[in-house]
Amino acid sequence: TKLIYAFGRGRAEGDARQTALLGGKGAALAEMSRIGLPVPPGLTLTSDVCRQFYEGGHVLPAGLMGQVKAGLATLGAQTGQRFAGTTAPLLLSVRSGAARSMPGMLDTVLNIGLNDETVVALGANSGDPRFAFDSYRRLLQRYGDTVMGVDQGVFEEIVREACHDAGVESEAGLAASALKSLVARFKAAIEAEAGMPFPQDAHTQLSGAISAVLSSWMSSRAIAYRRLNDIPEMPGTAVTLQAMVFGNRGRHSATGVAFTRDPSTGERRLYGEYLPGAQGEDVVAGTHTPLALTDAAPSSAERPAGRSLARAMPETFKAFAAACDRLERHYRDVQEVEFTIEEGRLWILQTRRAKRTAQAGLRIAVEMVDEGLINEREAVSRVDPASLEHLLHPMVDPNGAVDVVAAGLPASPGAAAGEIVFTSEEAMARAAKGIATVLVRPETSPDDIRGMNAAEAILTTRGGMTSHAAVIARGMGKPCVTGAASLRLDVEAGRLTGGGFDLKAGDIVTLDGSGGRVLAGTVEMIKPEPSGAFARLLGWADTIRRLRVRGNAETPADARAAHRFGAEGIGLCRTEHMVFEGERARLMREVILAPDEAGRRASLAELLPLQRADFVELFEIMQGQPVTIRLLDPPLHEFLPGSEEEITEVARGMRVPAERLRRRIAELGESNPMLGHRGCRLAISYPEIAEMQAQAILEAATEAAARTGAPVVPEIMVPLVSLRRELDFVKARVDAVAEAVAVQTGIRVEYLVGTMIELPRAALRADAIAETAEFFSFGTNDLTQTTLGISRDDSAAFLPDYLREGIIERDPFVTIDVDGVGDLMRMASERGRAVRPELRLGISGEHGGDPASIRFCEEIGLDYVSCSPYRVPIARLAAAQSAI
Ligand code: ADP
Ligand code: MG
Ligand code: MG
Repeated sequence: TKLIYAFGRGRAEGDARQTALLGGKGAALAEMSRIGLPVPPGLTLTSDVCRQFYEGGHVLPAGLMGQVKAGLATLGAQTGQRFAGTTAPLLLSVRSGAARSMPGMLDTVLNIGLNDETVVALGANSGDPRFAFDSYRRLLQRYGDTVMGVDQGVFEEIVREACHDAGVESEAGLAASALKSLVARFKAAIEAEAGMPFPQDAHTQLSGAISAVLSSWMSSRAIAYRRLNDIPEMPGTAVTLQAMVFGNRGRHSATGVAFTRDPSTGERRLYGEYLPGAQGEDVVAGTHTPLALTDAAPSSAERPAGRSLARAMPETFKAFAAACDRLERHYRDVQEVEFTIEEGRLWILQTRRAKRTAQAGLRIAVEMVDEGLINEREAVSRVDPASLEHLLHPMVDPNGAVDVVAAGLPASPGAAAGEIVFTSEEAMARAAKGIATVLVRPETSPDDIRGMNAAEAILTTRGGMTSHAAVIARGMGKPCVTGAASLRLDVEAGRLTGGGFDLKAGDIVTLDGSGGRVLAGTVEMIKPEPSGAFARLLGWADTIRRLRVRGNAETPADARAAHRFGAEGIGLCRTEHMVFEGERARLMREVILAPDEAGRRASLAELLPLQRADFVELFEIMQGQPVTIRLLDPPLHEFLPGSEEEITEVARGMRVPAERLRRRIAELGESNPMLGHRGCRLAISYPEIAEMQAQAILEAATEAAARTGAPVVPEIMVPLVSLRRELDFVKARVDAVAEAVAVQTGIRVEYLVGTMIELPRAALRADAIAETAEFFSFGTNDLTQTTLGISRDDSAAFLPDYLREGIIERDPFVTIDVDGVGDLMRMASERGRAVRPELRLGISGEHGGDPASIRFCEEIGLDYVSCSPYRVPIARLAAAQSAI
C-alpha cells in the first residue's frame, strides 16, 4: 500500500476526506494545496505507518525511509533546495496529526536538517546568521527533549544563564554570537545528558524525529486525552514532513493563530494573535503573551495597543484575511488557522474546525443559516446538545458588588468559584473530596489536562486567548482567564498576590471567564436568559423532531422551568417529593403511625386538600398538556426520621412517645429496601393511600379544567409493577374513585391509568400488562438496576474499574445499555403495542436527558422522553438530531 502522500504547489495526492489516513492536519494541508492556498510543500506518512510502527515493536516499516528519500528529492527539486545538502539545505518540520485533533498532545519537531555545516549555509543564504543560529538552537532544544529524552529544564537553565550574562530578558534579545555559543552549550548538554551527541546527519535526525512523533501517540498524556475525549486508539497518527518557512527570520516575519470568528462569543470577525520574530509553538505554548491580529481584540494591561498585524503589515494581513474567508466558505464552518509570515510572505500551515464555546457554537450555527452558508437542518445537527447546558450556567451578577483581584483575558466564559490550588495534583485531590477548586498556573501544558478537568475554573498569569489553557478550557466548557499579568504567582511558596490581596492555597476566588476578571471570595451569580439564537435553533429542532419532550417536575418552580424550556407536559411527577416536608410530612407520618385503617383514612383525609391544591397548581402551569403522576413509590420508612435526634424532635412535634416512633421504624426496617415494600406493593397493602392520591388528582383535574378551560388528561402511573394483577388491583381502585368523583362533581374527566416498566418481568409480560395499562413509561433507572443486578448507589465502587478495563464502554446509568436494558425496552414496546396499538410509550429515567439514549428512544419509536427541566432543551435538540 501507498504509505506517502505528497502535497504542495496547487496539487495534492490526498484531500480533505482522508482524515483517517492522513490525519486531520495532513488532509487539510492536501485540501488547501488543491484550492491554491499558499502551503509549504510536503509529504504525509499515512496512519498505516503508525500501525505498522507499533505492530513491529516501535520500528519504522522496512523501506519507508527509502521512499521518504525519493519523495524528498522531488520536493527539493521543486523548492530548489536539497535535504541534507550543504549549499541550499532543505529544512523540514516533522508534524503529528491524528484523525481527530488532539491539540498539543503529540510532538512536532521543527528545523530538521540543520547541523554545524548547514547552519552556516542558512546564515549565508539568508544574510542573517542570527536567524540561522536561532533556528539551530530551537532544533537542539526540541530534538534533545523529544527525541533524545533530555529534560527541558536543562535547556531552560542554560538559556537563563545566557540571558543573564547578556543582560537581556529572553532569548529574543540574544545576538548572533550569543546564540552561537548557546548552540555549543546545548550540544554539550545533550551529549552529557543523553550519553551520545546530537546527530549531525540529516537523515538520522529525520528518522529519529519520525519515530519520536509516532511514539508520542502512546505517551501517557495522549492516552489520557483520548480517554477523556472518547477518541479511539487506532488508526493512530499520521506524520507530515513539510518544508520549513521561517517566522523567526527578521522583522517582517511572524507566526500566529487565528479563528475565522470569535471562538468565545461567536461574533463574526477575524480573531487571533501573532508573535513577530517567532517560530511555531511560541504562541500556543502560552510562554509569551502575543499581540492581537486586529485592534478590536480585547486587551489586557500587558497587550500593547497599536501593534496589531493589521497595522504592522497591512498588505500581508489583507492576504491573510482573504485566505481565512476562503477557508471558512470552503469548509462551511469556522476554522482555526495556523500561519507563518516569512519576510512579508504569507504561508498557511494548518486549518481545522475551530473549537468553540457553547455560546459561540450556537450563535455561529444560527448566523451561518442567515448568511446562507448552511441550512437549518445542518445548523441543528452541528450544535452539541450537551453544550446547551453551559448556556444555562451561572454568570457573575453585573449588579452585584465585587472585589477585583486582577484583570486578564476573557478566555472562556461563565463563572465559577472555588479554592485556589496551584498544581493539577492538588486540584484532583480536592475534587476527589468534592471540593470545588480554581487551578492557578503560570501557564498550562498538556500534562495539566486531568487537573483542569478536576477544577471548576482555570487561571493563568501568562498566555493569550489561544494559549493551551484557553483552548482546552473552552473545549471543557469551563471558565478561564489567561494573561492575568498583574498577579504575582509563586507556585513554590503557594502564594498569589495582586490588587492588594495576598492569597494562598485554599482561599476562595471567583473566576469571571466572560469578563476576564479574578474576584475575591464568592460573589452573586445569576442564571443567564437564553439568547435569541437559542430559541431559534430550538425552534428549528422542534420542526424536525418526532419525539415529544416532557419534563420531570413536582414543584411549581420545576414545572414552570420545564414549561419555559419548552417541555410539552410532565412525564414524571414523583408524588413522594410533595409530602417530604412541613405539614404534609407530618400528616404522612401520622398515616404511617396510625394503628389501623380508620386511623390512616382520617389522616389521609387531612392530606387530601393539600395534595389537591398542589395538583391544581401543576395542571394550571402545564395549560392542558399531559401530566403523568406516579403514585407513592418509596418504602414508608423513608418518611420517618433517621437519627435519634430527629426522632426526639419529630415525636415532640407529633405529640407521640418517641418509643412508639422507634418501634414503628424498627418494624418497617428492610434489609434491601430497593426491592422491598414499595411501589404498587404499598397500594396493595394500603389501598387507601392510592385512593386518596387518585381522588386528589381527579378532583384537581376537574377544578383546573373549570378554571382554565384547558382540559387536562391526567395520566396516573402505578410504579414497580411486575404482575398484571398488581396493576388490575390498583386500576380497579382508581376507577372506583373516578366514578365517585364524577358522581359527586357531575363532571366526568378523562384520565389514563398506566404503569412504569421498571422490572424485567414487566418488560417480558408487556403484552399481558398492556391489556390493562393505557401507557408505559420506562423507568430506566430501576430497570437498569434490576436488569444488570447493579445497585446504582453502590456502583461507584466498581464501575470505574469496568470502564478503565474496557469491560463496559459507558456508565449504564448515564447512557442506556442498549444491548441489554435496551433490548427489554424494545421487546416491551413491541409486545405492548401488539395488544394495544395506541399504547403511549415514554421514558422517565435519567436517560431521558442523555443524547445517546434519546437516539435509542427514537430508534425504538417511543412517543416521548422526559427529563429534568434544565435538560429539556438538550432533549429537544437531541431528539431532532436523532430524526435527521
Ligand atoms: P500541533 O498539532 O501541536 O499544533 P503542529 O504540527 O501544528 O503541531 O506544529 C506546531 C507549530 O509548528 C505550528 O503551529 C507552526 O507554527 C510550526 N510549524 C509546523 N510546520 C512548520 C513549517 N513547515 N514551517 C514553519 N513552522 C512550522
Ligand atoms: Mg498546529
Ligand atoms: Mg423506579
